[in-house]
Amino acid sequence: MHEPKTPLITLRQEIAEACQQAGRDPAAVTLLAVSKTRSAPELAALADQGQRDFGENYLQEALDKMDALAERDLVWHFIGPIQSNKTRDIAARFDWVHSVDRLKIARRLSEQRPAGLPPLNICIQVNVDDEDSKSGVALAEVEALATAASELSNLALRGLMAIPRADSKDGSRHAFRQLAMTLSQLRNTMPALDTLSMGMSADYPVAIEEGATVVRLGTALFGPRPTR
Ligand SMILES: *Cc1c(COP(=O)(O)O)cnc(C)c1O
Repeated sequence: MHEPKTPLITLRQEIAEACQQAGRDPAAVTLLAVSKTRSAPELAALADQGQRDFGENYLQEALDKMDALAERDLVWHFIGPIQSNKTRDIAARFDWVHSVDRLKIARRLSEQRPAGLPPLNICIQVNVDDEDSKSGVALAEVEALATAASELSNLALRGLMAIPRADSKDGSRHAFRQLAMTLSQLRNTMPALDTLSMGMSADYPVAIEEGATVVRLGTALFGPRPTR
């Protein structure tokens, strides 16, 4: 009786091993399946193996998949750049947003979160490398944005997210450590913050060593992405 060892099973084992090496409880790390460009049947196949959390970058593509998979009990995370004109659908349809990087977007998400739904879970995206070209708030501005966002009634501020520059593995370690330190400072005044969304296919074991609670994996789960 040999079950085929799917990429999901392999990744779960690798995450558990990374946790063990770091002295962390594997239950403290959530595997977020980054499913941009993947079809609804591909997501359904993962859901059949017990995967619940899915991360999407493109709104319309995500809404189509949510409709196709509406019968299933899935948790949807928005992880892409957010334009103001997209906040209404994001607030209505997602459970989490990892990529909040300005107060205007946080305010709109809170105002547009439909009554009757629990608060929308958000992370603040931090530009840990301080690169001009990338989205994310500068490290120096995280505290002000977190304080303001934490006061918005239909949001639950949960923590921080980052996409470090893809160079050396050690480069991301430094960035992960900075993000973890920033979260730990914020927790002095906001003890409910519990989420560090960091680590992708190339560097998630390092992110787990540095305290990630959510790793966002696309390529490692699904193989190389088709070009869009
Ligand atoms: C695409 C994407 C990922 C997944 O990247 P992989 O290298 O394929 O694991 C993670 N996070 C964000 C924000 C992404 O856009």
